[in-house]
Amino acid sequence: MLAEYAVRVERTRGRRFPESPHPYRNDFQRDRDRVIHARAFRRLENKTQVFTARVSDHFRNRLTHTIEVAQISRTIAEQLGLNVDLAEVLALVHDIGHPPFGHAGEKALNTAMQMHGLAFDHNLHALRIVEDFEMRYAAFRGLNLTFEVREGIIKHSRDYPADQHPELSEYLLDRRPPLEAQLIDLTDEIAYNTADLDDGYEADILSVQQICNGVPAFARAFQVAQARYPAAIEKLQFNEALKRFFNQLVTDLINNTRARITAAGVKSLEDVRNAPQRVAGFSDAVDAERRQAKQFLYTHLYYSPELKADKDRAEKVVAELFDFWMESPKELPRSYREKAQGEPLARVVCDYIAGMTDNFIAEQHRRFCGS
Ligand code: MG
Repeated sequence: MLAEYAVRVERTRGRRFPESPHPYRNDFQRDRDRVIHARAFRRLENKTQVFTARVSDHFRNRLTHTIEVAQISRTIAEQLGLNVDLAEVLALVHDIGHPPFGHAGEKALNTAMQMHGLAFDHNLHALRIVEDFEMRYAAFRGLNLTFEVREGIIKHSRDYPADQHPELSEYLLDRRPPLEAQLIDLTDEIAYNTADLDDGYEADILSVQQICNGVPAFARAFQVAQARYPAAIEKLQFNEALKRFFNQLVTDLINNTRARITAAGVKSLEDVRNAPQRVAGFSDAVDAERRQAKQFLYTHLYYSPELKADKDRAEKVVAELFDFWMESPKELPRSYREKAQGEPLARVVCDYIAGMTDNFIAEQHRRFCGS
């Protein structure tokens, strides 16, 4: 049962290139399938989430992270009476614009672009992938996704000021995105805040004691788990605690978003779009705990000495390859050399690098930069 404020697929604003309806898949289901079958989606398997050196096959990569975000988003969307198909495709596509080597790669790429007066932004890059770079259909470039999916790609995690992004004017930048899109940034946070604690613990970078000291919500859950399973090994007590923390975040997001929908008097999709701010969100108390977890992960995992060497290496690889192709554009593949005739070379080099997997960029670095 869809709530009255959900997006209804039969009222989609449609695709750039009209297509005839499919006999048994609706438009958002088709978009989900198009994303899953895209080359850029398959490459997520070999892109870093947090751990660049794959010390363990048990750690998340960007594909398994994406699947986790999709799973959480489906559950929450269903509980709120939202369009589950739309929430799912937005989750599946949310990280498709990420470059190799996680945030280190993203930072290095943006730094390199700034030297040329440009910038790299993974949401804008994701839109270019689905609009232009994916070549699957004879009739058009890109995946020809519905408006609501393209809008969600742009608006799920941040607001782009309309005056600075005239090229995005069709996406109603002065209005809020539907709740299905608003959810994604929050489910993304639930997914990585919990998964990174898990992988950080598994990697022996984070100890239970350390996590309990830095993340009070986890500490409470760990006490409950210990009291309930006093004889269990620590890893299983850890799992039980993490599950409870995870559940707390998901349940709070559902309950608090529901309460905010009521409090704001939201009765339709138009009300969601016209609301002065986003309606989906955690309660203040749980949001504070979410921020504690995030802050803890920055200090003790993302910026840890254990991950620093990988990060430095990632930044070096991206920066050196960028400079190499700027100086020797003839070494770019032909399709990119052709694109450089109509676009700034820096943008073309950036697009090429951003699409690479961790393995491929490392191989290119060995080949062209000799290390
Ligand atoms: Mg993500």
